[in-house]
Amino acid sequence: MSKAKILYIEDNSENRLLVRRVLEAEGYCLTEAVDGLSGLQAAQADPPDLIIMDIMMPGLDGREATTRLRSIPQLQRVPIIALTASVLKGDRERALAAGCTGYLQKPLDIDRLPKQIQEFLDGQRESLDPSDELEYLREHNKRLAERLEQKVERLSNISEANRRLSNMSLTDELTALPNRRYLDRRIREEWALAKRFRSPLSCVMIDLDHFKRINDTFGHQAGDQLLQALAKVFSSCLREDDVVGRYGGEEFLVLLPQVETTNASTVAERIRKRVELAKLTVGSEAQAVHATISLGVATVSPDDEELTEQMLVQRADAALYRAKAEGRNRVVAG
Ligand code: GH3
Ligand code: MG
Ligand code: MG
Ligand code: MG
Repeated sequence: MSKAKILYIEDNSENRLLVRRVLEAEGYCLTEAVDGLSGLQAAQADPPDLIIMDIMMPGLDGREATTRLRSIPQLQRVPIIALTASVLKGDRERALAAGCTGYLQKPLDIDRLPKQIQEFLDGQRESLDPSDELEYLREHNKRLAERLEQKVERLSNISEANRRLSNMSLTDELTALPNRRYLDRRIREEWALAKRFRSPLSCVMIDLDHFKRINDTFGHQAGDQLLQALAKVFSSCLREDDVVGRYGGEEFLVLLPQVETTNASTVAERIRKRVELAKLTVGSEAQAVHATISLGVATVSPDDEELTEQMLVQRADAALYRAKAEGRNRVVAG
C-alpha cells in the first residue's frame, strides 16, 4: 500500500525537499510540480493516487487548481490535501469549498505526516459544516470570477502594450505617418499582389523643395512643424487604399495600388497643388511658409515582366530628380 503515487504541487523548494524526504522514506512515490498550471498538467498526464496542494502560489493558486482538477473526470475522486501556512479563520472551509479533501497546516508535523497522508489514501474525508457550506461555496465562486476578471484585464493590458509597441516600430514619431520600415513592407506586399492579379501599382516619391532654406530661415523646430503640416495635407489627398508614409528626412512616399500611370500623375498633381495653395504656418507667431514640393511618379503595369520592386522606387526617385532639375514644384512621371 505504501507504493502510492503522490503529486506535490508547491512553489517553495525547501518545502518540496522536506516532504520528499519524509514521504520517500516511507516508500511513497513522489512527483512534484512548482505551480498550479504545471500541477494540472502533471495530474492529467499521469493521475496520482493523492495530491498535496500548496494554497499560496503565483499564477493559478491552490484553490483554483483544485477546482479545475475536480472538473476532470479521472481526477474527481483523487484526494487533494491542502497544505498552507495561512491560519486565517475560514481557511480550512475555503479549501474544502474549492474541492479539497482535507487540510494540513504548515509548519508540517513531520512525524505525523505519513500517517495523515495514509489516512486520506484510505478514504478519510473532511467535510464542511452544512450550515455554512453554501456561504463558502458562494464566496469561492465569487472569488474565482474576480480572479478571472483580473487575469483577463492583465492580458488585455499586455496585448494593448504589445499593439502600441508594434505600432511604434512602424510609425514615424514626428508625423505619425507610417515609417520607412512599414513602407518597405507594404511595397513588397503590394508588389506581390500586383504580380498575382496582374494589376498596376504606382509609386510617388515626394521631396520638399529647398527645405534647407526653410530650416535656415525659420529654425529646425519650425521645419519639423512644417513636416507635420505636410503630412496632414498628404493624408487628406488620398483614398483609403492608398498609402502615404515618411520615407526619410523630408521625403515622403505614396503607394497607389491598382492605379495606372496617368491616374497616378493626376493624384500627384493634386497633392502638389494642395501644398502650393495651403496656407501653412509655423512657430508660435504662425509665420506663413510658402512650401512647395517636387514629385516623381513611377508605375509598374502587368506587362513589365522584368521589373523588380526596388526598380519601382528607383524609377520614382529618378523622376523626382528630373522634377528638381526641371525647376521644382512639379510632377514628372518616369
Ligand atoms: P531640394 O529642393 O533640392 O530638395 O533642396 P533641399 O534643401 O530640400 O534638399 P537637401 O537634401 O539639400 O536638404 C534637405 C534638408 O532637410 C536638410 C535637412 O536638415 C532637412 N531635414 C531632413 N529631415 C528633417 C527633419 O526631420 N526636420 C527638419 N527640420 N529638417 C529636416
Ligand atoms: Mg506557496
Ligand atoms: Mg531630400
Ligand atoms: Mg528637399
